[in-house]
Amino acid sequence: MRFYLTYKQFINGEFVDSSNGDSYEVVNPANGKIVDRVARGNVEDAKAAIDYAHDALKREKATKANIPRILQAVTGLIREHETELATIMTLEQGKTLVESRGEIKFFAHTMEYYAGLKARGSQVQISDSTKLAVVEKEPVGVVGAIVPWNNPILLMGAKVAACLAAGSAIVVKPASTTPLSTLKSMELFKEAGIPKGLLNVVTGLGETVGEELVKNPKTRKISFTGETATGKRIMELAASQLKRVTLELGGSNPLIVCADADLDAAVNATLNGRFRNAGQGCMCVKRTFVFESIAPKFITKLRERALAIKVGDGMKSETTMGPVHSRSQRNKVEAQVDSTVSGGATLVLGGKEPDDPDLGSGYFYMPTLVTDVDENSKLLAEECFGPALPIVTVKGLDEAIEKANSSIYGLGASIWTKDLGSAKKAASELEVGTVLVNSLYGAGGWEIEVPMGGYKQSGIGREYGIEGLESYTETKTVIFGS
Ligand code: NAD
Repeated sequence: MRFYLTYKQFINGEFVDSSNGDSYEVVNPANGKIVDRVARGNVEDAKAAIDYAHDALKREKATKANIPRILQAVTGLIREHETELATIMTLEQGKTLVESRGEIKFFAHTMEYYAGLKARGSQVQISDSTKLAVVEKEPVGVVGAIVPWNNPILLMGAKVAACLAAGSAIVVKPASTTPLSTLKSMELFKEAGIPKGLLNVVTGLGETVGEELVKNPKTRKISFTGETATGKRIMELAASQLKRVTLELGGSNPLIVCADADLDAAVNATLNGRFRNAGQGCMCVKRTFVFESIAPKFITKLRERALAIKVGDGMKSETTMGPVHSRSQRNKVEAQVDSTVSGGATLVLGGKEPDDPDLGSGYFYMPTLVTDVDENSKLLAEECFGPALPIVTVKGLDEAIEKANSSIYGLGASIWTKDLGSAKKAASELEVGTVLVNSLYGAGGWEIEVPMGGYKQSGIGREYGIEGLESYTETKTVIFGS
């Protein structure tokens, strides 16, 4: 199969190079080879896309673009092009083809879901009067959407679908290392009839294109997914205009395994929760708290299963875990593990790059398990965005919850228990946006039908569900009568 050079920016319904002709290479994390070149978009490109989006919104308000029909049409096209989109994503991002297919399926489902959803206003009778109030949901305006590299198309899709369904316009900036699948998918939106300017993609760097989206007075809202440190920078930049922000940021999600848990299922969930996408998911399991009575058995089973993970190129059918996305990301994970182990932790598995010389030019790291971990160690105190898991032994649920909550993050958490009381206690006391109970992680710890987002430094606002759609609206109250 051959795609490319070729994927260009999508501005005002046309595929265009950057205004100064600059481009850069996108590299395959499995072997360091060039996948394609792509336009290096710049501030001028971002400004142009924002202007077109602004004009399109004015125009479409009058013509009322049929967004539900377009989202429905694009759903079918995404499903038809699943193999092509998934292949591009594996080549640019590194995850296995099976994982990429799962992401494309989620992308299609997201379009289908928002095709059937509308923001709902309400009518309110004012007490002791004849007045009637109507509460309306209006489109927020032009949105800047900034996306990370770990789930490039799924995260972009949720922003685009909810924003368009709310009647707003959008300019997307994909991560600079994963623009290709997003650009390919724009061909499908064009074929589905998206009106010019309503949806745009500008490729390039966060410091240039990303910051222009935040600073430009014509964007009314920023929907950002990425690291907590970048989220803070965006919030600072947005503050001068009191621009609306939704920030979906980092997490260090705890998984609690109680003494009465179905051990095999809990091991399965831990394995899937930590090592899918080579551990690079905001909702991945990043800390495990296991009751001491079952800890030895749990660790033995988990180690056996993790040993069977086949690390390799995501394009090969036998591979069950691909590379880490970039050399710098792999080095960061390696440094977190090394520092934790030199601080006294026990390495149960991994802790190194693979020995296989065929994998030498990729950014691989072996599945890693660590016990006896100091609570100030990097693996517990920081977000680990890679395939390494610290396992902490606890006496009971109170200790597990206390330790789980002792993090600056509050994105997700999960618990394995057969006791409803324990599940309810954990669900109510864990300081996170999403709690999974005996869940094997469907798409990745989230479902498009329900809101998702973080407590504490994991973010502000919610995406997905009707809440996600409403985050792209403003609320207006109109009062009738005297
Ligand atoms: P990142 O913050 O480095 O980059 C994310 C995006 O922001 C990229 O498109 C980047 O180019 C852009 N960017 C960087 N600096 C910018 C700036 N100054 N102004 C505007 N844009 C800028 O994050 P990453 O490494 O790509 O992604 C991994 C992080 O994302 C992890 O922390 C992960 O937990 C988090 N994440 C969170 C969620 C969630 O829903 N909460 C989902 C996925 C990933």
